[in-house]
Amino acid sequence: MENKYIPPAWAFEFHGHKCPFMPIGYRMGLLAMEKLGVEREKDHGFFVFPEIGVGHPQTCMVDGVQAATGATYGKLLMEKTSYGKLAVTFYHPKKGAVRYSLKPEFLEGFGKFEFFAHRKKGLEPSQIPAAAADEVLNWVYAQTDEFMFKIELKPDFKFTPVKGSFNKALCSSCGEVVFERYARTKDGKTVCIPCSGY
Ligand SMILES: [Zn+2]
Ligand SMILES: [Zn+2]
Repeated sequence: MENKYIPPAWAFEFHGHKCPFMPIGYRMGLLAMEKLGVEREKDHGFFVFPEIGVGHPQTCMVDGVQAATGATYGKLLMEKTSYGKLAVTFYHPKKGAVRYSLKPEFLEGFGKFEFFAHRKKGLEPSQIPAAAADEVLNWVYAQTDEFMFKIELKPDFKFTPVKGSFNKALCSSCGEVVFERYARTKDGKTVCIPCSGY
């Protein structure tokens, strides 16, 4: 196991608990950056599209993807497709796109671990004995990239980020700041969406 795939302590702290999926996303992010030849994103130039949805397990991997790539939700570099799949497309306008998905064989391998028996009984990851978390983490760290990931280059992938604007207005009803793209007009006055009643 190459050490570089083990997330730094701050990533576990950010994520909040010890689980195997944040580190899987972290590894996926590092591999995708290597594949595309991009550095960890400081600003707004690298985009990730996780295919996770809601109400299914293993979405924790997206926090690992953010930790590795710097392509974060807050920088508007992350957009979920909500397909309910454990896959992520990574896109850099100058370097192209690559999609990483978790192989079914790898996911099946989790079945035998105590960690998931606890999860299925309803225990939250932070309540699971540390030994059970370490056991499954060490198993993940020992797997090869080939066993874990299906990798597809996506030469036709297109994405146009929204052009940013600093323009803002004050809502005439609640008095709060609203960015112009979202300002609406009601009875000839500028209002925010909640105040517009639309
Ligand atoms: Zn987690
Ligand atoms: Zn308002």
